[in-house]
Amino acid sequence: MIRKNAPKQTTSLGLRIDVDTLRGTKVGVPTLLRLLDEAQVKASFFFCVGPDNMGRHLWRLLRPAFLWKMLRTRAASLYGWDILLRGTFGPGPRIGRRLGWLIQEVEIAGHEVGLHAWDHHDWQAHIETLSREEVFRCLEKGVTELTRILGHPPRCSAAPAWKCTDQVLEAKEQFDFSYNSDCRGQTCFWPLVLERAVSQAQVPVTLPTYDEMIGCHGVTDDNFNQAILDRVKPKAMNVLAIHAEVEGGVKQGLFQQFLQEAKSRDIEIMPLGQILKRYPAKTYGLIERSAIEGRDGWLARQGDVKNNQDKDDA
Ligand SMILES: [Zn+2]
Repeated sequence: MIRKNAPKQTTSLGLRIDVDTLRGTKVGVPTLLRLLDEAQVKASFFFCVGPDNMGRHLWRLLRPAFLWKMLRTRAASLYGWDILLRGTFGPGPRIGRRLGWLIQEVEIAGHEVGLHAWDHHDWQAHIETLSREEVFRCLEKGVTELTRILGHPPRCSAAPAWKCTDQVLEAKEQFDFSYNSDCRGQTCFWPLVLERAVSQAQVPVTLPTYDEMIGCHGVTDDNFNQAILDRVKPKAMNVLAIHAEVEGGVKQGLFQQFLQEAKSRDIEIMPLGQILKRYPAKTYGLIERSAIEGRDGWLARQGDVKNNQDKDDA
């Protein structure tokens, strides 16, 4: 007999799709919708709805480590020159205003839709310097625009580039998010800020991204899918993040094969909200800053796990 609320004994993979740019929305999203429909799976899409200034972000990072990554992943062929230049000369175009109808279609197609950012570049470049009130205003602009587009407030969010601070966690509590995906980690959990558990669960990304894996330890396009699927833990919670600009762009063939291979391995792909239902947050923990191979700068990571008992005793 299956106990109620017990995780189903299959392999579950939450699929988080980050949409960072105007072109990722316009071209990558329809491609991904088609591939997901073919594979009959649903996922979570996280949209940026404000100005697309991502070109500014990419040029700002022209430091040796980033330059090496650009060469390793051949960034121009991966992202496209228009993305690399977007927002470099003057303000970028507003994504939600131009492509709100497409964002709405994603929800109509049965996928989960959440907020990635108002301005991805701005978040990625400055978020750790902002107060809770300033973070709140960034989020408020995104939530207001996404509410206009969807006809209801977004129920989940995912921080750009896994940049999350205590101020972000506290600011997000003022919105109607049932969960957030702001860090790397292994299990769903309740984040602690100054010993207090925030009211919104975290669904961390457990697997590395394409740009982190490729070119490292002999991983190429020929063995990428196998390498990532070998890291999926059987009968456990797994979360993968992909980018509309990459897996919905030049790497769409690779992603199509990924979906087929996942199915042949009996891996069930689902939105992050469903992962949280299947593997509810039962532990508490801090979100800490850490570095990761293949990625420039810091990102947020699930800290040491504290169980309920620990917290009650504290
Ligand atoms: Zn992003």
